[in-house]
Amino acid sequence: MTKSTVCYNSLVNGRSNFFDLQDNQDMAPLADRHNRIATNLRVSVTDVCNLRCLYCMTEKMDFVERSEIMTFDEIVRLVGISVSLGVNKVRLTGGEPLVRKNLPELVENLFAIRGLTDVSLTTNGIGLASQAQKFYDVGLRRINISLDSLSEVKFAQITRRNLLGQVLDGLEEARQVGFDPIKINAVPMRGFTEDEVLDLVEFARNNGYEMRFIEFMPLDADNIWGQEMFIPNTELKDRIGQAFPLQGEEDGRRLHATAKDYWFRDGKGKIGFISSVTEPFCHDCNRVRLTADGKFRNCLFALEETDLLTPLRHGATDLHLADLMRQSVADKAEGHLINSQNYIKPKRNMSMIGG
Ligand code: SAM
Ligand code: SF4
Repeated sequence: MTKSTVCYNSLVNGRSNFFDLQDNQDMAPLADRHNRIATNLRVSVTDVCNLRCLYCMTEKMDFVERSEIMTFDEIVRLVGISVSLGVNKVRLTGGEPLVRKNLPELVENLFAIRGLTDVSLTTNGIGLASQAQKFYDVGLRRINISLDSLSEVKFAQITRRNLLGQVLDGLEEARQVGFDPIKINAVPMRGFTEDEVLDLVEFARNNGYEMRFIEFMPLDADNIWGQEMFIPNTELKDRIGQAFPLQGEEDGRRLHATAKDYWFRDGKGKIGFISSVTEPFCHDCNRVRLTADGKFRNCLFALEETDLLTPLRHGATDLHLADLMRQSVADKAEGHLINSQNYIKPKRNMSMIGG
């Protein structure tokens, strides 16, 4: 049993609640029954978004009541508890995290949690131009920006909003400020954005960004996922490799990584392929999730969630909340069933879960 080495200060309802988990022998790690230990937490800070990407949302979404969304103090407390259980990496996501006001403040408070070594952000880039420096000043260095097309028309089709310029401004500002790495996430869809792939790769190579292609997963709110729209990453890798020769190990995925990385032979950076559908990486998955309304999820595809926010608001102790997290992880399924007849789509789509 690993003993926690974390002591943190959590703020609840404005009260400062010092809790030293360091000496607590009960703080066993977040282990499941398949020999995996969760050390990587993705926290959704909102389910709201200013885009409506076809592969994620539907045009008219029912968002969670604001009062049911975690406050920054609640997020810091729950992250602090998870860190006491061995989590050392946190990625903020959503919905669109930047629609949350003063997000750099949250990042700063997360960096203050002893034992949390890595905080990163996934955003669609809208509004980033005016905040990039603030994020950098509080210590953020790693940022992923989603971008599926460099064409205004295509971008508007895929996101149902005409805001490409703002995304490009955000990317450029992040680069000027010094973020490293800056990864661009794209989810190509057959018949929509498959023709954008080479342009995106070239754009990323020329600007020092790292391009990553994510396979379309059946987590969209519009229920459009299917073989007609799905593009396997092997196909993309072959096409890209013909235009820009690649090198790398075929089994070169780093332990716990989602992406398989390849390097451009001419030395102009690298590229990643996240093949959750065709090459699942469940066997060494170390991820858990916290939704914006405080539900703990042991998997992106989980059908069950554990409510942490209600007990927290009713005065639960850190030990009790830690126990709820541990129980949830213990029940983590061995793998997702996307490729089987038995796949059941979670009730909530990607933006509600936190991608
Ligand atoms: N709004 C932010 C953004 O778009 O980067 C953060 C949240 S978004 C849900 C996180 C990531 O999930 C994005 O890179 C997006 O492309 C990806 N995503 C959304 N729906 C997806 C799906 N059905 N399959 C695969 N990736 C998806
Ligand atoms: Fe919004 Fe991100 Fe989902 Fe697109 S992928 S609709 S930007 S949450």
